[in-house]
Amino acid sequence: PEVGAGAIAVGAANRWGERPAFVRGGEVLTFAELGSRAARFARGLRAGGVRPGDRVALRMANCLEFPVAYYGTLLAGATFVPVNPLLPEPVAAAQIADADAVRTIVAADVARICDGHGDAPIPPPADGLAHLAYTGGTTGESKGVCLPHRNVVVNSLQYACWASGSLPDTDADGGLTLDQVGSPDEWVTPLGEARVVNLTPWFHAMGTIAGLNVLLLTGTTSHLLDRLDPMAYLADAERLGITSIGGAPALFAALLATPGIAERDLSSVRLINSGAAPMPVEMIERLRALCPEAVIAEGYGLTEVTMGATMSPTHRSGLHKPGSVGLPLFDTEVRTMALDGSGETAPGERGEVWIRGPQVMTGYHGRPDATADVLADGWLRTGDVGVIDADGYLSIVDRLKDMLLYKGYNVYPRELEELLAAHPDVAAGAVVGRPDPSVGELPVAFVVPARAGVREADLMAEVNQHVVAYKRLREVRFVESIPVSAAGKVLKRELRSRLG
Ligand code: ATP
Repeated sequence: PEVGAGAIAVGAANRWGERPAFVRGGEVLTFAELGSRAARFARGLRAGGVRPGDRVALRMANCLEFPVAYYGTLLAGATFVPVNPLLPEPVAAAQIADADAVRTIVAADVARICDGHGDAPIPPPADGLAHLAYTGGTTGESKGVCLPHRNVVVNSLQYACWASGSLPDTDADGGLTLDQVGSPDEWVTPLGEARVVNLTPWFHAMGTIAGLNVLLLTGTTSHLLDRLDPMAYLADAERLGITSIGGAPALFAALLATPGIAERDLSSVRLINSGAAPMPVEMIERLRALCPEAVIAEGYGLTEVTMGATMSPTHRSGLHKPGSVGLPLFDTEVRTMALDGSGETAPGERGEVWIRGPQVMTGYHGRPDATADVLADGWLRTGDVGVIDADGYLSIVDRLKDMLLYKGYNVYPRELEELLAAHPDVAAGAVVGRPDPSVGELPVAFVVPARAGVREADLMAEVNQHVVAYKRLREVRFVESIPVSAAGKVLKRELRSRLG
């Protein structure tokens, strides 16, 4: 039977009861309280005139009110429209208007909406859209992605099963299929006393799926921090004995750059999972040295597949290939298609990554042309370039839109970025193309130096020793920081605009 995504909160309330779900400062919200407040919020929304199928925008940072409003919106049968609270007003307003949201809710509204609306359960509706989520807009205009309840439930289960080792990592040889899904809590093995410091922004796909739904499904307690303060994060991590660290590579970079990190006792950490942007191999090695007992895993996805399509299959086999994003999740197919249109590529050859599975969006909101450009026969064209090896492991080479053309050759900035990341004098780096009338585009690196006294020309010469002539960096510019989005992605548009 199909289940609505709001059932995740109802199931967690039944299953985990008085266990703390969210803790912020001295305030605790148990799973039971979350379930009942979400139901009250749903009733309050309905009493306020919101009908099933209406869109409700939530514009708030991570706070105790967020999960109440998120699950409450789903339980009311309304569609959740996440809005990044850091967006400039006109951009947020345009998104809310594009989504045709009937209400925009901020944290201060939540208690009032819950007020006076008793606790009788309301049946979770399973049809309609659960999320209308906007892409990050890293490469261009942000588009609304339509995600039915089924997508949200399935993708959350795919990762919850993965995190708790409840399932084979892939259905390639007979894993379970969606038809066998009954109710979420029949599926997922409890993780025991799992605790995290939760910093993933909940308005982003990784936040809603991995930072909320998966944690509810596995009974994990989340401690909230107001902002990324690496010192506070590490102090909490040690004091609480956190069991996993999840986030974008930008989080790990910030943690690794914290003075004194090597002296921290992070022996409680069993799992480190990264996603949303490429994780340099060098970073994996540093994390391994810091947490030798932990499994380090990487997943890959995009808003158009709810959150994700692949994950390192570490739990079952212990086999992780650093630099790869693992294997397809169960019920998910991934293939790479030649960039010249000549069909599927052979193992080891580069091509555009296509994904098919129950988590793939039904389309872009109100944009049939943009939808037709990327969806055909259930396959989503991701706009990422990848390679699948002989064992089926996917590696992301780069985004098609970030790829440079030099005299007709493809240059992938990520290759140069990996070399920069491995260089001891580099704290952070990103590569973009500078248009050039005679050759096409030339690679230029923006670099945050790791120490004083490094020379741009020396760094460039050292990196260029490792690449063939057409891929060479033509310029290195030292900067104080690399701009990243709230979801932890390098804002390449902004870097390009600095090249003038
Ligand atoms: P827009 O598509 O509007 O530019 P965006 O790309 O920021 O926005 P998201 O859906 O948040 O929107 O990002 C998805 C992209 O993130 C993927 O297409 C891919 O390029 C990148 N990505 C996600 N996970 C990984 C990973 N593990 N390794 C490399 N790249 C990743």
